[in-house]
Amino acid sequence: MKRCTSCKIDKPFEDFRRQSKTKDGYKYRCKACDNSAAREYYQRKKKKIIENALEWQKNNPDKVKEYKKRYYSKDN
Ligand SMILES: [Zn+2]
Repeated sequence: MKRCTSCKIDKPFEDFRRQSKTKDGYKYRCKACDNSAAREYYQRKKKKIIENALEWQKNNPDKVKEYKKRYYSKDN
């Protein structure tokens, strides 16, 4: 058994993914916590990517205008 550092529940080793970097060869977090952490990370990253894009558009209005002009002119 191994205690997950995230949910603090004792779980069998099968519930942990292997990781060579750690002392016992298993990750500190159980698979369930690992999955939710990965999901959260993805959500955060996704949000960040959108934020960055909006930030870029705000800082580069000329390029956005240029891009839109090109995009719309393609349709005509
Ligand atoms: Zn856990």
